[in-house]
Amino acid sequence: MDEQQLLLLALLLAAGVGVLSLIAIFRRQRHAREDASRESPIAASREGVKLCPACATENLWTDSRCVRCGRKLPDAQRAVW
Ligand SMILES: [Zn+2]
Repeated sequence: MDEQQLLLLALLLAAGVGVLSLIAIFRRQRHAREDASRESPIAASREGVKLCPACATENLWTDSRCVRCGRKLPDAQRAVW
């Protein structure tokens, strides 16, 4: 193997590393986008009750903490009269 072949091999290796890192970056970006767009399967509130995001227990919409697990409930939108 002469010097030129060695140089070519090194170039190919460097290009391969570059392609692999590009693929890794794109995959990470896609996963980050998917995580950001994913919604919780539990609704925040429905028909006068507030659902606990942790245990899905129905609480009164006036409650600020879950009656079952005691976690803070998300603020429901206030009705505009
Ligand atoms: Zn709860």
